[in-house]
Amino acid sequence: LISSATSPGLHIVHIAAEMAPVAKVGGLGDVVCGLSKALQKKGHLVEVVLPKYDCMQYDRIGDFKALDAVIDSYFDGQLYKNKIWVGTVEGIPVYFIEPHHPSMFFWRGQFYGEHDDFKRFSFFSRAALELLLQAGKKPDIIHCHDWQTAFVAPLYWDLYAPRGLNSARICFTCHNFEYQGKEPASELRSCGLDVPQLNRPDRMQDNTEHDKVNPIKGAIVFSNIVTTVSPTYALEVRTPEGGRGLQGTLNYYSRKFVGILNGIDAEAWNPSTDTFIKFQYNADDLRGKVENKEALRKLLKLSCKDATRPLVGCITRLVPQKGVHLIRHAIYRTLELGGQFILLGSSPVPHIQKEFEGIAVNFENHPHIRLLLKYDEALSHGIYAASDMFIVPSLFEPCGLTQMIAMRYGSVPIARKTGGLNDSVFDIDDDTVPPDFRNGFTFLVPDEQGFNSALERAFDFYNNKPESWQQLVQKDMKIDFSWDSSAAQYEELYEKSVSRARAGTGGR
Ligand code: ADP
Repeated sequence: LISSATSPGLHIVHIAAEMAPVAKVGGLGDVVCGLSKALQKKGHLVEVVLPKYDCMQYDRIGDFKALDAVIDSYFDGQLYKNKIWVGTVEGIPVYFIEPHHPSMFFWRGQFYGEHDDFKRFSFFSRAALELLLQAGKKPDIIHCHDWQTAFVAPLYWDLYAPRGLNSARICFTCHNFEYQGKEPASELRSCGLDVPQLNRPDRMQDNTEHDKVNPIKGAIVFSNIVTTVSPTYALEVRTPEGGRGLQGTLNYYSRKFVGILNGIDAEAWNPSTDTFIKFQYNADDLRGKVENKEALRKLLKLSCKDATRPLVGCITRLVPQKGVHLIRHAIYRTLELGGQFILLGSSPVPHIQKEFEGIAVNFENHPHIRLLLKYDEALSHGIYAASDMFIVPSLFEPCGLTQMIAMRYGSVPIARKTGGLNDSVFDIDDDTVPPDFRNGFTFLVPDEQGFNSALERAFDFYNNKPESWQQLVQKDMKIDFSWDSSAAQYEELYEKSVSRARAGTGGR
C-alpha cells in the first residue's frame, strides 16, 4: 500500500460518499473536494477514501491504478476482499474501494437511492477503516460526512481504536439533517457493530422510532468534533422544527457542535478562467458576460431580440427542500414580468420529475422559457455565466452553494432567508446590514407572495437602475467565497482537538 508522505501539518483523511468532480450528486461532493484542496494548500496531508462506483467520471482521475494489496473486510459474519485503487482528483490523493461482495454494492449505475444503501455504506465505512489500519496509516483526523459514512465514528472507537488505529480524532460533518439513514437496529450487526450496546437512547437509538438506529445520532455521540455547514443552520437544527428529531441530541452535545459556512472552489468556479464557458470575463470587464448570455440564448433557442431582457437562472436538485412550488411559480411570474427563465435540474422524486416534464413540454418552443431536466455540469457553468438573476427559494437550506457560485459569476441571488442562505445573501434594502454586505434580494415567508416581493424588487432594480445594477453585479463578483476562511475554521477545530488529545484531556 502507498505510504503517506510525512508532512509538518496534520494528516487528515476524509471518508465520504462523494467527491467532485468524479462522484458528485450535490454540495457534499463540492465540499469534500474544495475543503481538501484548501487544507492541502495550508500544508496538511489530505487523503480521501471513496467507493469505487461504476458511474464515476473516470476521466477526471489522474494516475489511476489498482494496488497489488487486497484488503479483507468483515461483513455479515465473514470476510470479503476489497480491491483498492488509487489516483489523484484535483491534486488530492484518493483511495477507491471496490468490494468483492456478491451484492455488487457500487455497480448500480447510481450513487444513492438503492434499497440496500444502509448495507452498501456501512460496508464501505468499515472497509475504509480497515484500509487505514492495514496500510498502517496514523491520521490525526478522520473526517466523515453525512449518514453514509457516519458509521465510521462508532466503528472507530468500538472496533478500530482497540486494534491500533488510534491516532485520530473523529470529525463528523452533517450536510443535511433531513437524511438520517435510519434502519431497524438489527441492520447494524452486518458491519460488526454491537447492536445491544448501541441501540440505547444515549447512543445510536433513534429519538422517535425506538426500534431503529440512527447513524447521524451515532456520529454526533461518537465524534470529537461535529459540524454542520452554516451558522444559521446550526441554530435551526437545535430546534424542534429544524432538528428532525435530533435537536435534543444536538443540544446535549452543543459544546462540540458548530456551524461553518461552506466555501466554493474558487478555481473551479472562476469566470475569468472557466473553460466550460465560451467567453471568459471578470468584474472589471463584463463584456464576456453579455456574450455568454447571447450564446446561451442561441444554444437553447431562446429569443435574442432584446439583449437587456433579464435572464433568471435556477440550478438545483428538484426536491421539496428546494421549494419546488416556488420554482414552478417563478417560471410563470418571470414571464409575466418580462424576463426569461432557464431551469437546470433533475429530480429523484418521480412525481416531481413528471410534473416538471409536463411544464417542460408546455414551454418546448417558447421564446423565453427553457427547462432542462437533467444533470449537466458544463451547462450549469453556462447558466451561471449567462444569467442576470438566480433564484434559490429553499424551504430549508443547510448551506447552499448555488447562490455563492451565482454571485461569483455576476448573477444576483434571490433567496429565501434560511440556513446558509441567511449567512450569505443580504438584502439590498435591509438597513440592519452594513451596505457593503448587501448583495441580493431575500424573502422570509416561503409562499408566492413572499417570493414575488423579492423577484419584483429585483426586476424593478434591474429595469430602472441599470448602473446601480451593474455595480451590484461587480460587487457580488468580488466577494470572497473561497474556502480559505472556512478551511481555517476547520483547521482550528482539528488542531484544538488534536492538542487536547495529546495533552491527555481529550477523552472521546
Ligand atoms: P445540494 O447539495 O442540496 O444539492 P447545493 O447548493 O449545496 O445543494 O449544491 C448544489 C451543487 O450541485 C452546485 O454545485 C450546483 O451547481 C450543482 N447542481 C445541482 N443540480 C445540477 C444539475 N442539474 N446539473 C449540474 N449541476 C447541478
